[in-house]
Amino acid sequence: MGLDIKMNEKIALVTGGAGFIGSHLCEYLLEKGFKVICVDNLSTGSEENIKHLKNNKNFKFLKKDVREDLDINEKINYIFDLASRASPKDFKIYPIDILTTNGFGVYNLLNLAEKNNAKFLFSSTSEVYGDPKEHPQKETYWGNVNPVGIRGCYDEAKRFAEAMVIAFVKERTLDARIIRIFNTYGPRLNEYDGRVVSNFITQALKNEPLTVYGDGNQTRSFCYVSDMVEGIYEAMMRGEKGDVYNLGNEEEYKILDIAKIIKELTNSDSEIVFNDLPEDDPKIRKPDISKVMKYLNWKPTVKLKEGLERTIEYFKKKI
Ligand code: UDP
Repeated sequence: MGLDIKMNEKIALVTGGAGFIGSHLCEYLLEKGFKVICVDNLSTGSEENIKHLKNNKNFKFLKKDVREDLDINEKINYIFDLASRASPKDFKIYPIDILTTNGFGVYNLLNLAEKNNAKFLFSSTSEVYGDPKEHPQKETYWGNVNPVGIRGCYDEAKRFAEAMVIAFVKERTLDARIIRIFNTYGPRLNEYDGRVVSNFITQALKNEPLTVYGDGNQTRSFCYVSDMVEGIYEAMMRGEKGDVYNLGNEEEYKILDIAKIIKELTNSDSEIVFNDLPEDDPKIRKPDISKVMKYLNWKPTVKLKEGLERTIEYFKKKI
């Protein structure tokens, strides 16, 4: 069944809309008064993430793969492309899927945007910076990526897709922009996809050992999902055509410290153990967000402890 569209109503297509960030974005757009078409092939997303939206008359879910014809008849005004596996655990198992989703899939969606004269936002990643030699990472940094390493399928897929987005902006004058998402956490993180925050929380709640990879001195900065979603929205609405925006939190933590904080917040008796560091694991990562603060008037507001407490509550109900 199609959406019931009235004059002046805006339709947003969210691909990867049943995923962790995508489902929060669908909610946010509905609250802002958009009609939302959520497309997801459920490879990593789940219907559980959007089940509370299914009775909303402004929401429509299509179980489809972005590499195929989406067969959408409504006139779309905005496309938020978040469709891709993004977990390092999947890089080993599904490299071709990742490359084709960000290749053929993004190509399809860019053409759909052009056909609809829609604004387009591509969700890229901090992984385009690879194991960075510049710190913090600015949008102008070109990165340090091993194309044939274990993370190459994801890093290069996103780099290729970025180049294609820019090609559509230049050759076809499409109104598209790119965001680079840094580590993000919050409710609906997939329990099984091996991310550090979801791993540590589930391990701590089950009183199992917290598995720190390497010596735990590698750093990441973690953005709470509600902040991320606001940033994505601002990048679509205020972001310039053809521009690139880092979205993430500037507070940088050692992974070992994250383990200690989660152990404390969960009152867990778990011990901390040290496992092998995965190949090409970036040693440091932290966004420079001066550009988005200036041009999008956005910066994260949720402190790590507060965000982790909310995430722990979610996992307590789940496991
Ligand atoms: N990590 C860890 N233990 C885990 C999962 C991840 O020590 O159980 C480390 C991982 O090696 C990396 C960091 O935590 O240095 C963040 O990993 P994640 O998979 O969450 O995202 P990444 O930033 O690597 O894409």
